[in-house]
Formats: sequence, structure tokens, C-alpha cells
Amino acid sequence: MIKAVVFDADETLLDLRPAIDYALEQVLGSLRLLAPDLAPTREQMRDDWSAVFAEDPEAPVPHIRRESMRRTLARFGMEQHLNHHCDLFFHFRYQQTRPFPDALATLARLRESYLVGYATNGNSTADRCGLGGEFAFELYAHQGGLPKKPAPEFFAAVAAAAGAKPGEIAYVGDNYHHDVQAPAAAGMRTVWVNRAGHELPGPVVPDLVIERLAQLPDGLSRLATWDGVPPASDGAGR
Ligand SMILES: [Mg+2]
Repeated sequence: MIKAVVFDADETLLDLRPAIDYALEQVLGSLRLLAPDLAPTREQMRDDWSAVFAEDPEAPVPHIRRESMRRTLARFGMEQHLNHHCDLFFHFRYQQTRPFPDALATLARLRESYLVGYATNGNSTADRCGLGGEFAFELYAHQGGLPKKPAPEFFAAVAAAAGAKPGEIAYVGDNYHHDVQAPAAAGMRTVWVNRAGHELPGPVVPDLVIERLAQLPDGLSRLATWDGVPPASDGAGR
């Protein structure tokens, strides 16, 4: 029986990509004012992000962002502008990061039947991204030495925070490797948020696949039925 539903943050509950694009555009606009002929392009900033991330995927996300921006600016002799543009980036990144349209109603409905938690590798703090007060607990990689997904320790911390056995927890996320394979290996039930309708990229089959968060409450109720265990008292047949 599922007692707790725990969410990944970015691209699961939060529509992050438009916020990143907007924040990068603000940074690039500011750099173009400083150096109209020299300023980097969005593609260069994205390439530097990818390179820095590939070098050390375990690093905290804000460190990756800062180092990638430093690298881009250094190539244009603009490193002295790093601090200001990091601040500018994070100001707009948080200001613009908001839940998907069906997220808050889905969370409210789930809270009627489950403990609802939030556990992320990233830096999308719930209260800065329109999700303040939504969760029974929040876990962030790097806080208190918590390693990033897919580390088993991450999911052990999820279970401890939920006060439930791994098999009583449904982990919900968009990243197949981090949010399906890894929690399944930890003994959790898994829900893959597959908005783009991708093929299953690996051998581990999620317990549930959804294209929209609004499908989650009924999907979880059906899972409980398939377990041969009655759904939560008010969750059946809705
Ligand atoms: Mg994600």
C-alpha cells in the first residue's frame, strides 16, 4: 500500500526550462550592453554548462552554473562581471520558475490520501518556486551531506523522511535514470512523468507512466487496486 508520494522538482512539478531561458536572456542582454561586439551567445553559455556538468555531475547545481558562467565570461575577457551576472541569473531564474498548471491542484488532491514530499538534486527550493507549504518534508541534495540521485543514500533519506518503508513510497519524476531506475532499485514504486511521449529508455518498467500531473491521483489509486490492497478510503473510483 502506498503511503507516501515523493516528487522530483525540476521538469516534474516545476516548468524550469522557460525560467532558465529567460534568466540567460537577461544575462546575455546585460553583457551585450557592456560589450556589444564581444558578448557570448546563448549557445556558448549552454555548451559551457554542459561541459562543466559533464566534468563533475556530483557538484551542487549553483556551483555548476557559476563555474560555467565564469568559463564563458573568461573567454571574452569579462570575468570581472561574473558576480553581478550570477546574481542576475539567479534572481530571474527563481522569479520565473513556477509549477506546471496542474501541479498545485494535484498536490492538494494527493494530500487527502498520502503524505506528500519533495526530494531534489537541484536548487529549486520550494518556497522560491511557488511550492511553499505544499509538502510534509523537503530534501535537497548536498544539504546535510546528502548525495545526489541516483545514490542509494538519497532514497534511504527519502524513506526516513517519509517514515515509511521503500515499498510504501511512490517516487515521481521526469528523469528515467534518476526517478525510475534509481528509486526502483531502492525498492520504491515509481511514476515516470513522460510529457513528450518518449520510448522507455531502459529495462526497468515504471509502475505508472503519466503525461500530465493531473493523471496521478487516479493512477495511484489504480496501482493500489492492482496490488490487491484497497485504495485509501476516499481514493477509490475517483
Ligand atoms: Mg527532474
